[in-house]
Amino acid sequence: MKHKANIQTKAVHGGARRDDIFGAINEPIYMTSNYRIPTDGTPVDWSGIHSNIYARNRNVNQMVLQDKLCALTGAEDCAVFASGVAALAGVFIPFLNSGDHAVVSEVCYSATNLLFRKYLPEKYHVEVSFVDTTDTEAVKAAVRPNTKLIHVETPGNPTTGISDISAIADIAHAAHALLSVDATFAGPVCIFPLELGADLEIHSMTKYINGHGDSLGGCVLGRTELLEQVKEMAMVNFGGILSPFNAWLITRGLITLPLRMKQHSAVALAVAEFLEQSPAVRFVWYPGLKSHPQHERAAKMMNGQYSGMISFDINGDETAHQQFLNALKLVTHAVSLGDVESLIVYYDQTSDKLVHYPAIYRKGFFRFSVGLEDAEDLIDDLQQAFAASRLV
Ligand SMILES: *Cc1c(COP(=O)(O)O)cnc(C)c1O
Repeated sequence: MKHKANIQTKAVHGGARRDDIFGAINEPIYMTSNYRIPTDGTPVDWSGIHSNIYARNRNVNQMVLQDKLCALTGAEDCAVFASGVAALAGVFIPFLNSGDHAVVSEVCYSATNLLFRKYLPEKYHVEVSFVDTTDTEAVKAAVRPNTKLIHVETPGNPTTGISDISAIADIAHAAHALLSVDATFAGPVCIFPLELGADLEIHSMTKYINGHGDSLGGCVLGRTELLEQVKEMAMVNFGGILSPFNAWLITRGLITLPLRMKQHSAVALAVAEFLEQSPAVRFVWYPGLKSHPQHERAAKMMNGQYSGMISFDINGDETAHQQFLNALKLVTHAVSLGDVESLIVYYDQTSDKLVHYPAIYRKGFFRFSVGLEDAEDLIDDLQQAFAASRLV
């Protein structure tokens, strides 16, 4: 609980400074691929993660970012990667062996879906059960004697479904399996998966942590004993290392994360309430709305802020959907999420992903990443786009 206090102070001051020579108050960018090795006979661990040898083993800007993420989340250790997908691989590669079984959220990021549906089973003989992890009983029923990992995405991308992390952690631990949670949709401030019992917490830092839409990145947080394996295998030997420049950019973004999440959450709630009462709207899911199927669970697990992700659909045919997208002025039609500006993507009916989502989603829907704009301006933009597509 301690890390929840003074979270904005921790975002500003948390983590060790590493510029011991000049004492710069802003961390310099250490653009170096290699470091001087001691010549005094000290043994060198060429594939090690505990000294600076080569930037793929460890590098300064990466360490600064890891320290700040630990300070903010209370995690014992952290590894950062070149993308969210590299961070996910950083968990799946070390902790799954051929013949092991994994239970995975059926609503999950497309690369996670493809890894578990195709590559891990076909190339590495990992057995997989996809389940609706918002249904705790379904998770329990899917566990087998060889289950080694339960991987949950919460809030789920794109549905915002909320899984019960504490209950699923109990199920995983009773089965001697690990629980990993991809909490990208909430960022590491609205929810604290490790505190709820998860062993590993994963984020695409491309999204809220960086927040400015100018760098990819990913992180894994958890106990040192697990993170050493993540670093040794996935970082040093699979090599998805984060560059010093991107680490520096993301560190800068992280400083304002708590502040941004407050605004994202407040604006998204106002926008979701507007959508909920609009006759143009077929359905809306936002964890902060009482009508969300797992609102009570979200209220218990989240910190009163529900992040900026909304999924919804409008009444009307394909043409109306296209007209609506065309008419939006402030909101940009683009992938990714968690940026300062509002982004929307449309999953049309023909998308093959839709079969994995709850029935209400299967006619098509929008995933809406609410930015930092003023709520009234976003509501005005949506309202005029509804009118332009003759929905109101
Ligand atoms: C974007 C995303 C990822 C992948 O992250 P990249 O940085 O694009 O590699 C993983 N999980 C979730 C939930 C995401 O939204």
